[in-house]
Amino acid sequence: MRLPKLRELKEAVTAVLSPRFTTRFPAEPCVVPERYRGKPQFDPDTCVGCGACVNVCPTGALTLVDDPAGDHAMRRITLRYDTCIFCGNCHDNCTTQDGISLSTEWDLAGLDRQSMMETHEYELQRCERCGASIGTRKHLIWLCEKLGPLAYANPSLLLAKSDELSAEHSDTVSSRAADVRTSDFMRILCPKCKYDLNIRL
Ligand code: SF4
Ligand code: SF4
Repeated sequence: MRLPKLRELKEAVTAVLSPRFTTRFPAEPCVVPERYRGKPQFDPDTCVGCGACVNVCPTGALTLVDDPAGDHAMRRITLRYDTCIFCGNCHDNCTTQDGISLSTEWDLAGLDRQSMMETHEYELQRCERCGASIGTRKHLIWLCEKLGPLAYANPSLLLAKSDELSAEHSDTVSSRAADVRTSDFMRILCPKCKYDLNIRL
């Protein structure tokens, strides 16, 4: 009976004399490992607003709303980090690879869930014939640069790129004519209008 007691005493003395294993958070900041999966962070330079991350988010922490009406058609992607499980799916499936990544920010607790969200806005490109949303302008330009000379096969991509190079961006949407015209070839079109154009002309 005496032997176990001595062992416990030895363990207690060793624990008292050993350095701490716990952190002093919140008195001192807790430094996490470099590859820790914390709050997802958008990179405004490399995110093109394509929405691929929204499609693979398992919890619905990422949502996307297109607002093609009004003078400035916009896409809004919202991240709710109160419902994020830090799985990293968004980063793994990001179209540009670094549009979103998991930071080491982990101290996200709060009392107001409405404050635990952030929204990012992107300019939408509308179909110049019917006004339907095609995608973000940034995404079209990114595709054009990615495809290089192959982009010449797609007038919509080329026009989006040349629009970016010109001083002014025209986002004109004409009312949809019953018949498609040859002049429609040199307009930025949605897949439906492109189909009309290629089948009927
Ligand atoms: S880390 Fe996972 S849960 Fe969080 S936003 Fe990305 S995909 Fe959604
Ligand atoms: S997949 Fe990447 S580029 Fe596309 S919206 Fe998400 S973060 Fe941005």
